[in-house]
Amino acid sequence: MKTISMRLRLAFWYSTMLALALTLFGVSSYFAMRRSIRVTVDEELQARSEGVQHLIERAFRVDYTENLEDSLREHSELRTGGELLQVSDSQGHFLFRSEQMSRLNVPRPDRPSARAYSLPFKEDPLRVLDRVVTAGTHSYMVQVATEMDDYAEALYRIQVLLLVSIPVFLLCAAFGGYWMSRHALDPVDQIIRTAKNISVQNLSSRLEVPRTGDELQRLSETLNGMLERLETAFKKITQFTADASHELRTPVAVMRTRAELSLRRARSVEDYRDTVAQIHSELERTTELIEKLMFLARTDSGAESIPFERVDLSKIVHEVDMQGSALAENKQVAFRENLPGHPVWVQGDEHLLRRLFLILIDNAVKYTPAEGTVEVSILQKNGTAIGQIRDTGIGVAAADLPNIFERFYRADKARSRETGGTGLGLSIGKWIAEAHAGSIEVESEPGQGSTFQVRLPISKNGG
Ligand code: ADP
Repeated sequence: MKTISMRLRLAFWYSTMLALALTLFGVSSYFAMRRSIRVTVDEELQARSEGVQHLIERAFRVDYTENLEDSLREHSELRTGGELLQVSDSQGHFLFRSEQMSRLNVPRPDRPSARAYSLPFKEDPLRVLDRVVTAGTHSYMVQVATEMDDYAEALYRIQVLLLVSIPVFLLCAAFGGYWMSRHALDPVDQIIRTAKNISVQNLSSRLEVPRTGDELQRLSETLNGMLERLETAFKKITQFTADASHELRTPVAVMRTRAELSLRRARSVEDYRDTVAQIHSELERTTELIEKLMFLARTDSGAESIPFERVDLSKIVHEVDMQGSALAENKQVAFRENLPGHPVWVQGDEHLLRRLFLILIDNAVKYTPAEGTVEVSILQKNGTAIGQIRDTGIGVAAADLPNIFERFYRADKARSRETGGTGLGLSIGKWIAEAHAGSIEVESEPGQGSTFQVRLPISKNGG
């Protein structure tokens, strides 16, 4: 519906503008022509009246007044336009009046008008010019005229031509305009038809891109770009949902099996206690998993807002180190802390930053066997605070390195699950670092150890 009305709207505006332009052109050319005819006729009348004036003046110079009438007749007969001439004296008596002038009975004005004027006779409009000629003691009123019927006829024809041709031309242009806008908007219809058929089931379909280099090509490309992003996001969500259900199913299945085995026959109190303790530990892991899933879901929906404030990264890391050293001690892993003796200010949320460093320190301890070392340092370089967590643990294979920040990715699934890993820690850590305008990087050598570096911009002011 909308495209049809758009076509009509385009054609309507186009025709209206054209109608205005053509009308303006028609009216102005008609009046310009009328004016130009008048100017030409008036100039000719002027020249003719001057001719008669010379004739009168000449007749007086040779002092032969009686001959003036004959001279005027002769002049009237010989000159073009001479048939429309009348000359009268100051008493109003006609010295000469051509046949046509007396037939039309062109009146003698009391006073001559300065310019030529039109006499509106019924069939023969007449243009008249008066001129007073003084010769000796005599004063004559010379009147010359031109019949305007031929000109009027020509003007009338032009008028009719314009009145007929403009609407016809306009009609053709309106249809042409409509056809053109229809033709131009056809590809938009095509885009709409394809876009209507794209749904969740076929998000991988794309619009056909016309190679026209115009707005339509850009529109199709933009829509295709949008579809691409939607498809990627949709795939991520589907993958996340599938992984999350899979991860949740495992502990639930473990708990169920334990409970079923325990219920199969009567057990001792110790056996029941043991089963409940195992189920409790599974529940703890499941709670942690659910908490992480919910955190990621909140970050995806954009609901996780960060209350930024100026915080001391050194103090935060030191607090996390206390937990880390306890974990390390449990595993007989040496723990070293290497912090600057002064505050390192960054903009961020204390709770989230603590979580980020806990993930990295916890991993370092988790993936470092006994007798190994974990070292946590903070460095400052070019306005950046670098939190470095180095371990001498199992390391990450080069093939796994690009993936360890992916959700649910675990380099060694069996070992990770054994150590209580969910595969979500690093993806949460990455989100936190990026949400603080920072980044997180890793260098690792299998069997030698890993170094994780968190880079955060140092806060310049007290804000
Ligand atoms: P998990 O909960 O499994 O530790 P993470 O997202 O924190 O999940 O880490 C993803 C994977 O990266 C881990 O399963 C592990 O294989 C690898 N990894 C993370 N930190 C280290 C480390 N310090 N040393 C060796 N491997 C690590």
